[in-house]
Amino acid sequence: MNFELSETQLLIRDTARKFAREVVAPKARQTDREEIFPAEAYRQMGELGLLGVNVPAEYGGAEAGVVSYALAVIELAAACASTSVGMCVTNMCAELICQFGSEAQKKRFVPKLCSGEAIAGSFALSEAHAGSDPGAGSTNAVKKGDRWVINGSKQWITSGAYAGVMVVWARTSNAGNKGLSCFLVEQGTPGLTIGKAEDKMGLRGSNTVPLVFENMEVGEDRLLGREGDGFKLAMVALDGGRVGIASQACGVGRAAIEASVRYAKDRHAFGQPIGDFQALRFMLADMTTQQQTAELLTFRAASMKEKKQPFTREASMAKLYASEMSNRVCDHAVQIHGGYGYIDEFPVERYLRDARVQTIYEGTSEIQRIVIAREVIKAAG
Ligand SMILES: Cc1cc2nc3c(=O)[nH]c(=O)nc-3n(C[C@H](O)[C@H](O)[C@H](O)COP(=O)(O)OP(=O)(O)OC[C@H]3O[C@@H](n4cnc5c(N)ncnc54)[C@H](O)[C@@H]3O)c2cc1C
Repeated sequence: MNFELSETQLLIRDTARKFAREVVAPKARQTDREEIFPAEAYRQMGELGLLGVNVPAEYGGAEAGVVSYALAVIELAAACASTSVGMCVTNMCAELICQFGSEAQKKRFVPKLCSGEAIAGSFALSEAHAGSDPGAGSTNAVKKGDRWVINGSKQWITSGAYAGVMVVWARTSNAGNKGLSCFLVEQGTPGLTIGKAEDKMGLRGSNTVPLVFENMEVGEDRLLGREGDGFKLAMVALDGGRVGIASQACGVGRAAIEASVRYAKDRHAFGQPIGDFQALRFMLADMTTQQQTAELLTFRAASMKEKKQPFTREASMAKLYASEMSNRVCDHAVQIHGGYGYIDEFPVERYLRDARVQTIYEGTSEIQRIVIAREVIKAAG
């Protein structure tokens, strides 16, 4: 077991850290308060290789592996989770197209995603009545000649109003999960309407919209993978996506701890720094231990994915633990800040609001427990 980072991993982490601290963090409060979609940051991240960290260089990626990707997400999330969530989805779309796309699809779409030309990628799976249970989705695609005609709608799609490239799931037959297929759609396709952006509790700089498809036509060359393989593609993408969200949770948790330590040293009560009180020290000890545990779980899942080992259980464990850790840690951070924790003069109220969704998207905590239990029982034979 080697806990040392490679030169490539250090380079990616340090590049992401510098960009996150110098460019993203100073704008994070405004990004959140004024709901500014970080399009410019994505263009710059494209130049730095952060939109295709685990994507082959021949398609415009950094080809730096999954552990590097996790390290980069942690840095961006510690600065601004509104920015890192779009980064995660863009990386996820680029990887999915690389894994299942035809050569023509890879050449057409992946460099646009990795360079930032597409601004972002969107992953359009959830529907208003089908989130945890995507197999119940009713958006449908009907073949007419050499075109697919897509009708239906999607809900809560990250970066949906800005993404140049979208991966969209639609039903091509009534065969349950085996009736889902996956399509590549470009922004501006006739028949695609972007709904009103959601007014969210957190991640307010991220764009979350419904998508409506009314007789939206795409060519048959836009089918990603084989007809009927959509559910499989979604599950593969979500395994990797969970490593991204676990990393995001680790980054937000780390930022909350750093802010808490600073505050505990500065703030005085009863004639001494509040950091001298054992009650707060124990809180900081637990917060740090739990955040580091989450990082270890996340890096293990990332490393297994990188080595092409099965990692479904490990990704779900990392996502479950890290997202719940992040909520606990951010809650403690607000407590340590007292009244100042509840107002926007300090960043911890934003961290807490941003952390909240992490136990919900990319599979709720309940769904992660279902996945983990299924894998544990399966492994026992
Ligand atoms: C900010 C934000 C961004 C998002 N971005 C995207 C995106 O980019 N693309 C996308 O496709 N989706 C996205 N989503 C949707 C997200 O993935 C879903 O909200 C999530 O999967 C949960 O689905 P649901 O909301 O329909 O909840 P439901 O499935 O209705 O679940 C409601 C509750 O029931 C529980 N539950 C459901 N089934 C079970 C079960 N079998 N056993 C036990 N408990 C169960 C859940 O855990 C939850 O507590 C986003 C959501 C948000 C809030």
